[in-house]
Amino acid sequence: MGKELEDILVGKQHIVILTHMAPDGDAMGSALALYHWIQICQSEGRSVRETVCAPSALRSVSVIVPNAFPAFYSWMPGALLIKIYEKEPDACSALIAAADLFICTDFNDPKRINPAGEKMMANPAPKILIDHHLKGTMDNGQWTKDYSDPSASSACEIVYRLIAAAGQVDLRPLALTEDIATCLYTGLMTDTGNFSYSSSRPEVFEMAAALLRAGIDKDAIHHAVFDQYSTDRVRLTGYALYRKMRIYPEHHLALITLSADELDQYHYQQGDCEGLVNIPLQIADVCYSVLMREERPKPGTPKPRIRISFRSQGEHPVNIWANEVFHGGGHMNASGGEIFGSLAQAVQLFEKTYKTYIKQ
Ligand code: 5GP
Ligand code: MN
Repeated sequence: MGKELEDILVGKQHIVILTHMAPDGDAMGSALALYHWIQICQSEGRSVRETVCAPSALRSVSVIVPNAFPAFYSWMPGALLIKIYEKEPDACSALIAAADLFICTDFNDPKRINPAGEKMMANPAPKILIDHHLKGTMDNGQWTKDYSDPSASSACEIVYRLIAAAGQVDLRPLALTEDIATCLYTGLMTDTGNFSYSSSRPEVFEMAAALLRAGIDKDAIHHAVFDQYSTDRVRLTGYALYRKMRIYPEHHLALITLSADELDQYHYQQGDCEGLVNIPLQIADVCYSVLMREERPKPGTPKPRIRISFRSQGEHPVNIWANEVFHGGGHMNASGGEIFGSLAQAVQLFEKTYKTYIKQ
């Protein structure tokens, strides 16, 4: 399948790689790994082997994200070259309008990257999808080539497969460079919660082994992502668990709510709540966990946005609940959604619906 991707890349001069809102390690890793791979690997009429050291001078490859990524991913190779649509809408729109190929990673609904999604849909250039989420009803045949696989641990695993299938792993360290491997490992590590879920297939560890052979410093990657928190972030976690976690013992359910005022008290930075929703699952009798976080209204939107994260264990889906009640979706055990309204309204909706959507 990697050969096919190589074929699609032939002759393309303005490639735009897009990933989702509030980029996580897998979004960053899959987009940046592709960015580096395309930079080195393909130009018209020549094989990867011939061109690996002779990148096309004419080609432009851009990574665009809808909004800022957390600071603890800024060390990733290429991260500082990423364009942020919210910060540079005109420059990003111009790149999207001029693109002759789009590659979308780690999401599958163009609406989730609006307004960039609308701009992409207005450009008839081919669109490649590399994703590991279940598809909802939003697929209108817009993808020229769809490499989705919901059984994959991460979008990074699919990018790795593409690179491997293009025969490049054999060319290590030229094609599976340390930079590419570092990006891929970051996504694999974060999307599997350090290999604690979505990682039971041997292929996941075979991929990790190949990345280690490509020269990554696994411990340094872990340290860069998980050991660089601010004091405020750690104290916010403590406050949320000690003061704001409600347990519904009969339903094996935990809920944490954080208002915009509370987040301000701890000088909330984007990404500071990442991983928080997983912690209540450490409690013996809890198998569902929900986190609600209030964002102040943006200019032009009268109501605050309540961002909701859902997590569960085993055969206890949360994606249907997230989808039908909170306008979102995601994986069976990890989903997200939102409502525009007050935190109290979100909690009311939660309390009205949890008995319907959670399985005992
Ligand atoms: P998180 O809680 O980390 O924001 O999201 C958990 C998972 O749910 C991620 O895999 C993410 O892609 C998915 N997700 C989050 N928000 C949405 C949403 O609004 N729609 C859909 N379809 N998936 C979402
Ligand atoms: Mn992912």
